[in-house]
Amino acid sequence: ERKQLHRLRREPSRTLDGVDIRLWANAESREDVTSAHALGAAGVGLYRTEFLFLQRSELPDEEEQFRAYRDVVLGMTGRAVTIRTMDIGADKADRTGLALSDEPNPALGLRGVRLSLARADVFETQLRAILRASGYGPLRVLVPMISGREEVVAVASLLRRIARDLRSEGHEIAEHVPFGAMIEVPAAALALPCFIGDVDFISIGTNDLTQYLLAADRGNDALGELYSPLHPAMLRLLHQVIRTARTRGKPVAVCGEMAGDALLTPLLLALGLEEFSLHPATMLEVRRAVRAQRLDALRASASALLRCRDREAILRWLQRVPPAAS
Ligand code: PEP
Ligand code: MG
Repeated sequence: ERKQLHRLRREPSRTLDGVDIRLWANAESREDVTSAHALGAAGVGLYRTEFLFLQRSELPDEEEQFRAYRDVVLGMTGRAVTIRTMDIGADKADRTGLALSDEPNPALGLRGVRLSLARADVFETQLRAILRASGYGPLRVLVPMISGREEVVAVASLLRRIARDLRSEGHEIAEHVPFGAMIEVPAAALALPCFIGDVDFISIGTNDLTQYLLAADRGNDALGELYSPLHPAMLRLLHQVIRTARTRGKPVAVCGEMAGDALLTPLLLALGLEEFSLHPATMLEVRRAVRAQRLDALRASASALLRCRDREAILRWLQRVPPAAS
């Protein structure tokens, strides 16, 4: 069984009816990048940069960040790397004094892009480091916790100005660095048509989207199954976001834990998803699940999936799809 799975590292992530699904890797360490590469990931779909900022008392400078991002780009040897800008807030253990220390409700507070825009000095340093790394291979920038168009426009204009500065300082950076928004706040999911024209791609953070859509703390075990993406509201919202992006020709991935759960692969494929970003440890199981499905059949049963009225019905839909045994 393990050996069978291991063989899949050189096989394409292709459905039975011949559609190639992009499996990107989530990464936050050198080891993750190495295994992503070895497992045949399409690229890095989510590089979490928080670890550079946490568990220390001084902020990383531009050089340190530049070297870290450049090393990921070099490590992926030409496959695209998606660097997520810092997603820090009072919910993370921060000793640099960057985040506010005692917000009454950290999950609803100054985190992600909100903190970045409030600390333009720190954000600019990070964006300079990221853009400089774009001179070493294909790189994309992804911004967390977007809730509306204003933030997208603010970051896009910062990126343009910083790119100009870097070029005039003599740095060789990529001509175009694709810029994407994470969809993890329900308002951003619903208002996607308002700003899809301002981004190059989107990535759905289902961990936070589930938390905010269902008003269920992602870290609170007492909530049990209340915190779960298997809710009709979540499936409808995912379907709508994926359809909006695809209609506008913008790549869309899911990068939350959901993407790495092979039992849920048929569900995401049925909703129209063709790009997944997941932890390397789950890459081969998800590839096996992709290879066991016919996309046309799944798409045909999407309407049945969207008609499910509760979690039980969604689980029954999942039981009807063919299993992924290789
Ligand atoms: C998410 O919210 O789904 C996500 C990928 O980001 P994080 O888990 O880092 O909040
Ligand atoms: Mg998130």
